[in-house]
Amino acid sequence: MRQSQLFMPTLREVPSDADVKSHQLLLRAGFIRQNAAGIYSFLPLGKKVLHKIENIVREEMNRAGSQEMMMPALQLAELWQESGRWYSYGPELMRLKDRHERDFALGATHEEVITSIVRDEVKSYKKLPLNLYQIQTKFRDEKRPRFGLLRGREFIMKDAYSFHDKQESLDDTYEAMKDAYSAIFSRCGLNFRAVLADSGAIGGKDNHEFMVLSEIGEDLIAYSTDSDFAANIEMAPVVLSEDRSSEALMELEKVETKHAKSIEEVSEFLQVAPSKVIKSLLYIADEQPVLVLVRGDHEVNEIKLKNVLSAKEVELATAEETKKWLDAEHGSLGPIQVSKEVKVIADQAVPYMVNAVCGANETGYHYTNVNHNRDFEVDETADLRFVVEGDLSPDGKGTIVFAKGIEVGHVFKLGKVYSEPMKASYLDENGKNQIMSMGCYGIGVSRTLAAVAEENNDDKGLIWPLSLTPFDVHLIAVNSKNAEQAALSDEIYTQIKNDGFDCLYDDRPERAGVKFTDSDLIGLPIRVMVGKRASDGIVEVKIRKSGESFEVPVSELSSFIK
Ligand code: ATP
Ligand code: MG
Ligand code: MG
Ligand code: MG
Repeated sequence: MRQSQLFMPTLREVPSDADVKSHQLLLRAGFIRQNAAGIYSFLPLGKKVLHKIENIVREEMNRAGSQEMMMPALQLAELWQESGRWYSYGPELMRLKDRHERDFALGATHEEVITSIVRDEVKSYKKLPLNLYQIQTKFRDEKRPRFGLLRGREFIMKDAYSFHDKQESLDDTYEAMKDAYSAIFSRCGLNFRAVLADSGAIGGKDNHEFMVLSEIGEDLIAYSTDSDFAANIEMAPVVLSEDRSSEALMELEKVETKHAKSIEEVSEFLQVAPSKVIKSLLYIADEQPVLVLVRGDHEVNEIKLKNVLSAKEVELATAEETKKWLDAEHGSLGPIQVSKEVKVIADQAVPYMVNAVCGANETGYHYTNVNHNRDFEVDETADLRFVVEGDLSPDGKGTIVFAKGIEVGHVFKLGKVYSEPMKASYLDENGKNQIMSMGCYGIGVSRTLAAVAEENNDDKGLIWPLSLTPFDVHLIAVNSKNAEQAALSDEIYTQIKNDGFDCLYDDRPERAGVKFTDSDLIGLPIRVMVGKRASDGIVEVKIRKSGESFEVPVSELSSFIK
């Protein structure tokens, strides 16, 4: 491709609303443009990278026995009503009406659609297992779309769904998907961990998230230095102390006697920023302080928080009492269960489990199923750790290290969460009607692109790994006005293409400095510069990543690049 023809609008300035490297660089290098908050266009360079990621995903999914298909983005509300998610999913689900006033949703995910297809078409155990996937645009009206492609409201996801008659079959597919995901993210050149996680709004039991280790990650994970152990800590909003000595725990018990009436009071007492307290409150159940998080819109939270605060004044001594009070006062908030565990009262009637502050499980005093930025705001300046770094890994191998992670993939064993309410059944060997088991497996394709950009750049621009680069080679005629250089460049362009490389050829009549700046910015792995030594048949080859450069005779260029 001749760069003079390429639609690649670059920007000199860092766009003011772009807060992370990947977002800034993808905008500046002309890979993407924003249409509205969390909604982007992929320009030619961006589309090429997207394509490469999609193809890696396709190859590995096909290899693992999944079949590609395509489902509609526009989905009948009735399906979501059948699964119950029409009511539980909340404002993240984009809803609309057609001209006949019928309700529709824009697909945030496709469990409902795929389950309806499979239940209609698969009637016998002989057709199971089945594993189907698609690569498609998803819509989620994220509360805080941010970080460019990392958290969009319209984004590209690969989603796969598997259907089974036997648990072992689901287990096998789950493992195959995990392996495929590892292969995919390795091929994308990412430093990632598969971490144990909880299942959030989708439901189901066993699940792993694939986390790219990154400073800007929105999740906090703990992993072992010497084994595969890794878990999402699903950060607690309030850290009482990193110190787990008896004094620190005594501090914790003080909560029992504190009657906080305002967020400020709670904040002062706990010595954490008010922003962290807004959605949390300590309860006392069975003489254990228990943290309750209230999730949802700010305004809604404020109201609920007031209610919850008044609960403290009710002086609930036991779990049983707390439950009764909550049921009586807040039955509308959804199912609540209080023991050593309390289910978080979510505004969408989705129960989230929270462990008690004391007596939490041994691997770490952490809360489960609570995601920061989803369930609460994070004060970036505060230390959020509760499990202490350097602890022995629960599997006894290595010590615990913390890292922030970007969730690029997620695999779930759904079990019968969808197949049961949606009546996806089959006839078993004995002709008996049985409900299918399901798994679901997602990859954020556009998020993966941004994660790669986020982890591969320097102060000059992007640095693409060979597997994803929009073009393999950047050929630059240093001075296109010089006839000799232009002629040799043309010749090399043809040669590189014939060698099977995808070559971007900067044939523009621009100054050398401009060309080099743009070249660094878009970050192709290999740059071939045809300059002053063209007359000697020598070109300069520069490796974007290492910055190394070599003088190479044109006759040896093909073998050098390989
Ligand atoms: P998050 O915790 O970041 O909100 P999620 O757990 O809600 O993600 P899933 O429902 O597990 O997301 O969807 C599967 C994958 O889709 C995620 O692992 C992620 O890579 C991607 N994804 C989810 N939400 C977005 C988004 N708003 N923008 C881009 N990619 C997304
Ligand atoms: Mg989400
Ligand atoms: Mg998540
Ligand atoms: Mg997820």
